[in-house]
Amino acid sequence: MKHFEIERLLRAFGRKAHEHTMDAYLEFVREYDAGQVRKAVEHAINKAEKMPPPAELRKFCAIGALPDKAKCDHCKDNGFVLVGAGEEYDQHGFRVIAFDHPILCKCGAAAPPPENGKSWVQHEAMRLWHLARLLAKEVGRRAAGSELTPDFRTWRQVWWIDKEIPEWVEEAKKLGGLVALVRFSELIAKEDPNDCAETPFRVCQRLIPISKSENLSKNMGIFKSVVG
Ligand SMILES: [Zn+2]
Repeated sequence: MKHFEIERLLRAFGRKAHEHTMDAYLEFVREYDAGQVRKAVEHAINKAEKMPPPAELRKFCAIGALPDKAKCDHCKDNGFVLVGAGEEYDQHGFRVIAFDHPILCKCGAAAPPPENGKSWVQHEAMRLWHLARLLAKEVGRRAAGSELTPDFRTWRQVWWIDKEIPEWVEEAKKLGGLVALVRFSELIAKEDPNDCAETPFRVCQRLIPISKSENLSKNMGIFKSVVG
């Protein structure tokens, strides 16, 4: 319903839907269907600084009628994406930290506040949370087969939980980045699975300084398995 969409536009900009105003807008968007008007209204609400006059709304309709060509594939020109992209758990069942919180897209498109009301996440925090999850996975993988955590899943249920996650983030901070993580993943292969199950942070505290000090091995296969 075009009528409804125009009302929505007016409401969004704090205007009353007087009959003559409605008529003017409807007249200008007459040659566009309800879907196109809806997209134009959406665009105006998300992007325009002030209420677009009828002629401008028609322009938005015309743009919307063209094949969809968002400049940014990542955020579809919304200016932000939601952490986890709809997936609360990663492919190994690890809960994603700050799931569904908005993060600004690097394309720099102006972002409206997200509708879910969740707080913004900074890129550096996100990077560390991601690294923390990868680090925990390395330790958890090694712990599989131990007495305490016979499989990866059990380990995850013990160590990747709210109470422990901040500690993983702290360890990730010390680790720094993916290059050191690759080295860490090589070093941990020689560790006792029982230590990784019972005192994983102690294992981290021992291996992280070594991971950072040694050169990256040339084994890019491992790099791919960690990053991908
Ligand atoms: Zn973007």
